[in-house]
Amino acid sequence: MSRYPLELTGDDTPMVRFMNVTKRYGELTVLDHLDLDVAEGEMVTIIGPSGSGKTTVLRMLMTLETINEGVIYVDGKPLTHMEKNGALVPASPKYLRRMRSQIGMCFQHFNLFPHMTALGNCMEGPVQVLGMPKAEARARSEELLELVGMADKMDQHPSRLSGGQQQRVAIARALAMRPKVMLFDEVTSALDPEVIGEVTNVIRDLVDAHNLTMLMVTHQMGFAKDISDRVCFFYDGAIEEQGAPEDLFGNPQRERTQQFLSAVK
Ligand code: ADP
Repeated sequence: MSRYPLELTGDDTPMVRFMNVTKRYGELTVLDHLDLDVAEGEMVTIIGPSGSGKTTVLRMLMTLETINEGVIYVDGKPLTHMEKNGALVPASPKYLRRMRSQIGMCFQHFNLFPHMTALGNCMEGPVQVLGMPKAEARARSEELLELVGMADKMDQHPSRLSGGQQQRVAIARALAMRPKVMLFDEVTSALDPEVIGEVTNVIRDLVDAHNLTMLMVTHQMGFAKDISDRVCFFYDGAIEEQGAPEDLFGNPQRERTQQFLSAVK
């Protein structure tokens, strides 16, 4: 691991860097020497055909997958490695827990705790994991539930909420941990068409009003075009083409991008 820096420093350090990251499942290479940077405050969207490795990128950031080659850095620090005698070695569980707590994730299936209210769901992580005093966690959770338009449903259990409302609570719950990076994986895929807008509007607000670093996987091209600073088109575990949304959607250069975009229109 000696060719990878122990940490990234300097003004141009990205919030997230995938450096030469390779992920294999047996014979199958899912990410192939991937280099990907996300700057602080940037919203990057990943699009591409099914099986191209989009979700794997997010799962690797959540440290849910082992890495076969390369290093991922978050805010300049290696995510799953730590320094020992001047080299990078696999991180200890304690280091890994600390790094993982900097990443917030919202999935297609929101997985709220069913026995807790919306407010309870948001308070759980800050109190149990971060050791935040209850009053502070409550105040912060109330503020976030207001931000996602759920102030009047704070005391409801998930079973009493619609899919769109549950997803908004899940976003507030992830934000309550004060992540440095937020990941969104197909957050609208499991929703009824009429409630998709309420969730995309919340994400749009986060992009507009908060300087959050976000990485999103979506099949909704219109949404990706609207809110992303940059769009990456994945093909076979690598970035085939990337650019500003108006360029990538308006004037794609690669044949595979053109084919994909005309097929999903
Ligand atoms: P996408 O999100 O672009 O649809 P994924 O990142 O989910 O793609 O998956 C990329 C490839 O990795 C697919 O071919 C998928 O079948 C394979 N894959 C994902 N998870 C596993 C796993 N746990 N074991 C074996 N293969 C997997």
